[in-house]
Amino acid sequence: MKDMKQWINPAVRSLRAYHVPAGGNMIKLDAMENPYTWPASLKKEWHAVLDAVALNRYPDPDASGLKERLRAVMAIPAGTAIMLGNGSDELIQVLDIALAGTGRTCLAPEPGFAMYRQIAQSLSMEYCGVPLVPPDFSLDREAMVAAMEEVQPALVFIAWPNNPTGNLFARETLREVLRRAPGLVVIDEAYHAFSGQSFVPLLAEFENLLIMRTFSKSGLAGIRLGYLLGPVAILEELEKVRLPYNINSLTQATAAFILSYYGILEEQFRRICADRANLFAQMDRLHGIKTWPSDANFILFRTLNRTAAEVFAGLRRQGILIKNLHGAHPLLENCLRVTVGTEEENRSFLEGLKQCV
Ligand code: PMP
Repeated sequence: MKDMKQWINPAVRSLRAYHVPAGGNMIKLDAMENPYTWPASLKKEWHAVLDAVALNRYPDPDASGLKERLRAVMAIPAGTAIMLGNGSDELIQVLDIALAGTGRTCLAPEPGFAMYRQIAQSLSMEYCGVPLVPPDFSLDREAMVAAMEEVQPALVFIAWPNNPTGNLFARETLREVLRRAPGLVVIDEAYHAFSGQSFVPLLAEFENLLIMRTFSKSGLAGIRLGYLLGPVAILEELEKVRLPYNINSLTQATAAFILSYYGILEEQFRRICADRANLFAQMDRLHGIKTWPSDANFILFRTLNRTAAEVFAGLRRQGILIKNLHGAHPLLENCLRVTVGTEEENRSFLEGLKQCV
């Protein structure tokens, strides 16, 4: 038999597919989802909206209605352009496709969001990871500046708050990165709903700044919607590689609908932040783990007397799914990440964790 795999691009062959474990009936605290749904009356109204969607027609190619509502609700400045993606993962891909080329490098602090590396490498882009500084995972200003001088990155990704460490890097360090970067800098505000902080007001100040966000952590992971904000001239170029109709009609209708009731989601965010504080306080009291403070909707912790694999497996046996990060990066030795769930889910997790550590 001929080896047909030889035709797969070597850059792709060298990758491993991003693995997502099946949640089944488990208490799912592995993927930073919002645990809450919508009140029944709101759902009913939403069903009527969906009912009016013409599924036989292509979606609005510009999603203009949704963008208009997004601009108003998120207070996006008039001179800033918006691009929508099928999840922010797709926006990372759009950016990489538009910027890849011989000798082009993508740079990001590490440990960070895995897709920055994965997508860059799938497109044969060079990738440079700059280690964060333990024990608090702060951004290393000198190392970032030195790496940028050396590799001249076309693109820098910085998740703010960072995944999986949960912290916000110092604003002044980010400003320094923006000043010194030769190319574009994407501040990925996937978790902004839980940090209450944003770089949006700085869009007017930095011509190389792009801001990326997602609806996934806000209770809409199922509709796959992310957005990118930046200068009109840059987003016009990126539009050339965005696939037509990438945002389906049901997603457009659903997102536009819930933006009219955004207060309901904000109430959920406040609840998640309060529960994060409780969960953190209780985890911090436990012997056998070290916990890092978080500005996101998850908490990173390290097991001290057991391996992360043992704790992960022990929780799994009790029907609780979290994320084992051991092996993802040298700084994450025996680290795990738990998403803040409902009060009841958090209680089950804490009880399970006590038994494992
Ligand atoms: N950026 C960061 C920092 C993330 O943690 C995630 C999801 N884990 C994403 C982007 C991707 O989000 P989505 O594709 O669901 O919009």
